[in-house]
Amino acid sequence: MHIYLDNAATTRLSDAALTAMLPYFREAYGNPSSLYSFGQRANEALNAARASIAGHLNCDPTEITFTSGGSEADNQAIRSAAALGARKNKRHIVSTTIEHHAVLHTLKRLEKEGYEVTLVPVPENGIVRAEDVAAAIRPDTCLVTVMYANNEIGTIQPVAGIGAICREKGVLFHTDAVQAAGHLPIDVRAENIDMLSLSAHKFHGPKGVGALYARKGILLTSLIEGGAQERGRRAGTENVPGVVGMAAALDEACAHMEENQARITALRDRLIDGLSRIPHGVLNGDRENRLPGNVSFCFEGIEGESMLLLLDDKGVSASSGSACTSGSLDPSHVLLAIGRPHEIAHGSLRLTLSEETTPEEIDAAVAAVAQVVDYLRGMSPVWRDLVSGVTPFVIQ
Ligand SMILES: *Cc1c(COP(=O)(O)O)cnc(C)c1O
Repeated sequence: MHIYLDNAATTRLSDAALTAMLPYFREAYGNPSSLYSFGQRANEALNAARASIAGHLNCDPTEITFTSGGSEADNQAIRSAAALGARKNKRHIVSTTIEHHAVLHTLKRLEKEGYEVTLVPVPENGIVRAEDVAAAIRPDTCLVTVMYANNEIGTIQPVAGIGAICREKGVLFHTDAVQAAGHLPIDVRAENIDMLSLSAHKFHGPKGVGALYARKGILLTSLIEGGAQERGRRAGTENVPGVVGMAAALDEACAHMEENQARITALRDRLIDGLSRIPHGVLNGDRENRLPGNVSFCFEGIEGESMLLLLDDKGVSASSGSACTSGSLDPSHVLLAIGRPHEIAHGSLRLTLSEETTPEEIDAAVAAVAQVVDYLRGMSPVWRDLVSGVTPFVIQ
């Protein structure tokens, strides 16, 4: 049995997306920039996808630029706002401590280039306070970038409130909506969002394709030089099948959003209730104001990577907040940001659901996690010290 509970990392391509993509690999494979009608068929598919995606965000199709994914969209949005700011001698950027590395590492790079960055701290519930963001804005602030929903702990941020503050203060507002698009309703006009990033593979579209919305009048800096594709904002022959698949996946996700939310939220709560019965564990992030499919826990006296490997043996694909991909054993910056101590942050487990997840899978996952936690604690000297009272428990 394979139980896939890592949908925040990536999702399975939907049938609708695959079916929509197939013709653009081998039948309508023309180059959209070609003038002959064969190429124009591909161009029309791009236009239709652009219009459809714009409709779901409530923006104009000309405000959508296709990218290679969420990371590129984040990079381009932030670099563009920074370049526009520099022209007016505004080199200060406001963000938060819980952003994705695509945002945080871009900001780090800009700091080396002479920009100043303020990362607003986030309270234990994992939700940034709009008033804290407002207080961090200065006369020389050129950009506020705050994610729509967090990829590790699932918390949903007060984007509309921050958007209103930024609009009032005349500061550009970007949001990384990679975890939100296709899962939560988004309206860039109503929420005063100037720039927004999304990525197809987080809502059952293909990998390697995403989009950047930038409000009319915001000049985007090209990260990739070359041809005049995407109105000069992103050079390179367009990923036509990818873009078509992204639009089809977003269509489907938006068409079924309410029923998916209800179904997945019920399963999420069943999972949270099940895992809450394991002693000395704690849910990360607000209980209510979180993505329908996100469950994130820390278990005391446990090492996250060992938990993942043992869960894998039991057929459960899960994730830990630890940055094991970078080869370092640093715990998740998000868990540290919400105040989890190092040793607790190391024992983190993220399980993320999709509309394909079943109640049977949830129950099996709860049983598997309980067994694995028990087993690991049974051979942990740290756990022995906790139980015998040599060291006090952090999580009651
Ligand atoms: C996955 C993710 C990204 C990166 O998107 P890619 O398409 O994989 O580059 C950026 N931000 C958040 C919040 C994500 O979850």
